[in-house]
Amino acid sequence: MNPLAQAPPVEAAQRLAVCRTCSERGFAPVIKSEICKKCGCFLIAKTKLLDSHCPLNKW
Ligand code: SF4
Repeated sequence: MNPLAQAPPVEAAQRLAVCRTCSERGFAPVIKSEICKKCGCFLIAKTKLLDSHCPLNKW
């Protein structure tokens, strides 16, 4: 298994759209990045990784 394998772009975009409606979405102003407050991941990266999962099973 390649932990850096990429999800298809359409799937990554759908995941990010779900995150942007989620109450656990946060923003880290120092690094100007959206994060998941549940797992602490950067959303732009997390949503692109094929084997990544939402900790709330929203995607
Ligand atoms: S990964 Fe899941 S819990 Fe985290 S912001 Fe996205 S939808 Fe919400």
